Amino acid sequence: MIPDEIRVKDKDIHAFLEVFNNPKSYGNGLLSGKTVAIKDNILFDGHKVSAASKILENFFATYDATVVKKLKEAGAVIIGRTNMDEFAMGSSTENSAFDVTKNPYNLKHVAGGSSGGSAAAVAVGMADIALGSDTGGSIRQPAAFCGVVGLKPTYGRVSRYGLMAYGSSLDQIGPLAKTVTEAEILYKVIKGQDKMDSTTISDETYPVVKKFSKTIGVPRSFVESEGVSSEVKQNLIESVEKFKSLGYKIVDVNPPNLKYVLPTYYILALAEASSNLARFDGIKYGLHVEGKDGIDDYFKTRGASFGKEVRRRIILGTYVLSSGYYDEYYGQANEARRMITRELRELFREVDLMLTPTTPSPAWKIGEKSNNPLEMYLEDIFTVHANISGCPAISLPSGFSDKLPLGIELTADLGREDNLFVAGKEFFGE
Ligand code: GLN
Repeated sequence: MIPDEIRVKDKDIHAFLEVFNNPKSYGNGLLSGKTVAIKDNILFDGHKVSAASKILENFFATYDATVVKKLKEAGAVIIGRTNMDEFAMGSSTENSAFDVTKNPYNLKHVAGGSSGGSAAAVAVGMADIALGSDTGGSIRQPAAFCGVVGLKPTYGRVSRYGLMAYGSSLDQIGPLAKTVTEAEILYKVIKGQDKMDSTTISDETYPVVKKFSKTIGVPRSFVESEGVSSEVKQNLIESVEKFKSLGYKIVDVNPPNLKYVLPTYYILALAEASSNLARFDGIKYGLHVEGKDGIDDYFKTRGASFGKEVRRRIILGTYVLSSGYYDEYYGQANEARRMITRELRELFREVDLMLTPTTPSPAWKIGEKSNNPLEMYLEDIFTVHANISGCPAISLPSGFSDKLPLGIELTADLGREDNLFVAGKEFFGE
């Protein structure tokens, strides 16, 4: 599609914050001529990048993120920047300061978030493939809601240089695509150790200790205890049957601390966010609101230009890090993180993959949860374990409920994206 065609098509959906006027084709490689949409928290030299926040409304990137550099080298055509929840905080793209992205399957419903724009753009063919970022599910959950494939790679697999930080120990950039094969190609293009991001890993960091044996663990008691809708439960049963018919062995598993994933995630992510967002002070970046002195400038700028959810998270994150509460919240959450990670790694000695739904329900109606942040946080129950542990996870389209797409999710051991691609292609067919 040419830019004008995309703009027409996007009138109803609002997947893009900007469609570039003269998108260029760069090198020649694995992505020659493929159109790619990038989430608006990834820096593309010379272009606006706002994280869907008013504070960065007129901010231009002055360098390329490593992933953008790699896209260019692979011959991709970067066609625009996609809508998202402000600073990637949310599960519905309703927290964007500019627009709400609609679900292409039903415009009254959310597209998911925070990479809702990237998922919707791929779903309707406005982009061949897209990049999102995933701190607690932001690639996989909108992928599930929009009927596309979404992958969160192993922590450190993809450079975060040029990605605006939300929770630095959890964030990963990853692909959204129509098929597992295309997601795999995009993943191969963007992955790799990078001297600009010291947390990136090499191909040897996680040696293969277990050969793929087509064994999948399903944490049934966890799935059943968490308020999952009946259509999602039914879909999981059918997915299990499909894997069985493909020759997979399904076993019941029960990592006992999975039940603590949400509080653990929301303490760690918010703590890190409160620190990462301190740089937006009205002086170094973006919008500036004049107050009576420097401190007042800071309060006025941040009060006026961060949205409600971002302010809520900065306040909560600051609280859990404050002296007197640090041990009780942040310290405990770190301890829980260690336990959950250990349990998952032990699990992956017995099974190759863990299977869950991606989300506890299909895409909800726009506005339905916006006044209840806790209810929105509960929607992340099946995705955050992968970020807490660093493990890779993929969401695969898995049928529909009332014409809205559903997704199932496979999680693998650290470094084992290969297992996700093999099982993903077998399950989804391409
Ligand atoms: N919904 C989660 C949150 O709001 C995850 C967001 C993300 O992965 N960026 O924190």
